[in-house]
Amino acid sequence: MHQGTQGIYTFPTSSEVGQFVKTRVDPVIEDCNKIKEDLGFNVDSVKIKQIGKSFAHFRGTFGERETIAVPSDYNTHDEIDFSKPNIQNLYRSRMEHSEYAWEVCLSTPTIPLNGIDEMFGISDQHFWHIKCSHCNHWQVLTWWPEEDRQKQSNIRLLNGKWKDHVKLKAGKYSVTGEWGYVCQKCDRKINYDPFLIPMQWISKFPERTERRGYALNALIAWGYKEPKAIVSSFFDYREIDKAYNRILGLAYTTPGKKVARADILRSINNKLKMEDRGINCFMGADQALSLVVIGNYTEKGKARITYFERIKKNLFDQIDSKGKLIRGRLTDLMEQFNVQAAVVDAQLNTESAYQFANNFAGRVWLAFYADRQVDKINWKNENWTVVVNRNRAFETAMQFWMDRRVEIFPEDDYNFELYEMFIEHLSMLTKVIVETEDGRKMTKWLTPKGCDFAHAWNYFCMALEADVNTIRRVAMPGISGFKMKT
Ligand SMILES: [Zn+2]
Repeated sequence: MHQGTQGIYTFPTSSEVGQFVKTRVDPVIEDCNKIKEDLGFNVDSVKIKQIGKSFAHFRGTFGERETIAVPSDYNTHDEIDFSKPNIQNLYRSRMEHSEYAWEVCLSTPTIPLNGIDEMFGISDQHFWHIKCSHCNHWQVLTWWPEEDRQKQSNIRLLNGKWKDHVKLKAGKYSVTGEWGYVCQKCDRKINYDPFLIPMQWISKFPERTERRGYALNALIAWGYKEPKAIVSSFFDYREIDKAYNRILGLAYTTPGKKVARADILRSINNKLKMEDRGINCFMGADQALSLVVIGNYTEKGKARITYFERIKKNLFDQIDSKGKLIRGRLTDLMEQFNVQAAVVDAQLNTESAYQFANNFAGRVWLAFYADRQVDKINWKNENWTVVVNRNRAFETAMQFWMDRRVEIFPEDDYNFELYEMFIEHLSMLTKVIVETEDGRKMTKWLTPKGCDFAHAWNYFCMALEADVNTIRRVAMPGISGFKMKT
């Protein structure tokens, strides 16, 4: 601190100020001979410290009657995401006459594109980089908690299978096995060694000179933190958003980012029951576990689930060794529910799926995911296929639940097992914020392996959207004008 200057330091609450001053500020002053012998240490209270001719003022943002009414040269706002909104604006005028006028905002990130995350977004974005001692690749030490993103991670399970070493038991994760720090590019093991491994802050947007930003995650402590300890501490959090915020240093939201069990149970309409037939229905089917969702929509535009099934026999029509036709279960369901539009994934039995689509030309569509496609859904009438941007389609499909635009029959003894699977699979999806190659941020639904019912639901929602013009349908009032919100 320059002599003769004043600084304001805010914390969310006044009790946190007391804590901070006692545990962080006082010991530093106590240990510093320059302050004690040279500069002089005059005023000493929880709220004000005078060091030489300079003052530091500490204040909470909540639970304080007044703001600090002194001119300031440095304002520091700690844990700004937990502080009174726009606290920095409140104190900015205190720096009007300062020749320094530095403002520092610090926080654990919370909600994407809010608070510290927003500030960092418009800054020059410094990330802590390390250079691989094997291949010289500069990289930001990163770890992702999703199994399918381990290639992009610096912490990896060195041997064995993920599922054997990251286990969920009675609501608690256990992490075992041997984990190590690995180069993202050459996959070789790297160890903290300041002489062998250069490390430095590198700005992503050096041309931005107005605001400087620094991002940190738990891996910055790789010199003394075991990789397994970082993985464990992530999974120790009960709430995944807090784990992202605190371990990975990423903004991550709870509201609207996940469809929870409660969201699904809330959609139960006790007047409904699981039907075994219907008129003008829509169907989504996923081949991996042979899961089917069937339903229609209500007058108010809600999606109504009337039936689901895990098919135990053949999905598609087959000819047996004696040349006899064995009807596929999907063929039966098409008729039983008078299905107007069905979307089935094209994977696994692609040939049989094509045959099925041809048998119901214009009513059955085979879905292919194409993540680079800009349009959400591209219906291709020439071969009854539909090309889908997975993320955008899931955005719509999950929004149904979050907007409470779904009705479903109650859970009972008969459908219990499948019902639970449906809930489990849907609640496996999480919405995260990812950064595109050009630095923009966007939301993304992560669809981990094994959430097959969520895919069936996604296909069902697509079927609801099937272009009404291309569907041969029995004209029913109120149906032809139906258009789902995109
Ligand atoms: Zn390398």
